Amino acid sequence: MIVIDVQCEHGHRFEGWFASGGEFERQRGHGLVACPACGSTQVNRRPSAAYLRAPRQQPDGSAKPPSARMLAAQLAASLRAMAAAAHDVGNQFPDEARRIHYGESEHRSVRGQASRDEIESLLDEGIGVLPVPPAKDDLH
Ligand SMILES: [Zn+2]
Repeated sequence: MIVIDVQCEHGHRFEGWFASGGEFERQRGHGLVACPACGSTQVNRRPSAAYLRAPRQQPDGSAKPPSARMLAAQLAASLRAMAAAAHDVGNQFPDEARRIHYGESEHRSVRGQASRDEIESLLDEGIGVLPVPPAKDDLH
């Protein structure tokens, strides 16, 4: 059994247990998957929230995250969308991220440039930064 995140045409989100993704699609096709809030059977599968909530740090840094390439591409797209909406602070990003984290600067979303080492040291300090993948529309 797997948990599938579902969203109805009215934006209600709920979870359902299904034998497989294919079984979900079969039941959905027969109108058997109904929103518990409004009863609509116009529902769609949402990207797995479990993947997004997965721990991002592996203890030894060697294990690969359990992600299919499609999930990785979806995550990359949502990261880019989040970054596009954030305030661009350019190469001040590491300093600004610290100031925001420690309450010395206005709490807001920022984006900018940082080296891999800088990102890792921010993460070590418990600051929730994420490297944004390069914009590519052909990640498949
Ligand atoms: Zn609904």
